Amino acid sequence: MINLNEFKNIFLDRDGIVNQVIEREGVISSPRVIEEFFLREDFLDFTKKIPNEKNIFLVTNQPDISRKLLNIEILKEMHSKIISFIKLKEIAVCPHDDNHNCDCRKPKPGMINKLIEKYNLSRSESIFIGDSIKDLVAAERANVEFILLRTKYNQEVTSKFSVNSLTELV
Ligand SMILES: [Mg+2]
Ligand SMILES: [Zn+2]
Repeated sequence: MINLNEFKNIFLDRDGIVNQVIEREGVISSPRVIEEFFLREDFLDFTKKIPNEKNIFLVTNQPDISRKLLNIEILKEMHSKIISFIKLKEIAVCPHDDNHNCDCRKPKPGMINKLIEKYNLSRSESIFIGDSIKDLVAAERANVEFILLRTKYNQEVTSKFSVNSLTELV
């Protein structure tokens, strides 16, 4: 098992880690209105138990912004809700879609790399917690450790470290 005590810097994916995913016609999707935005129980537990001195970042793909399915003001409202429970050093959002070819959309490591450089963080003291293969690959490319949160929709993903609940980590 992996011990979070060894890591100063924790990068969290958002959808499926912090908040519940939304299923639309069998497809895993992200909340688009505040009424769809529910923080996960294990995340709330995590916020109560995680030591204060950790640097915690949110690193999230939100292509629904460029698809015009999600309003940026609603996104901000969702993020205000998150920071009322946990102190985040920074929230990194990629608003792009695949065809934009940006360097931030996971599985690209752009968002993680930028934060590591900006705050001069040690990669060996950094860990990413995510629920998708895109998160895993982004972490690998950024050369930081990774923990997969196992869910019913990511059973096919193979990860060195995995948990069934964030509660296992705190
Ligand atoms: Mg996710
Ligand atoms: Zn991007």
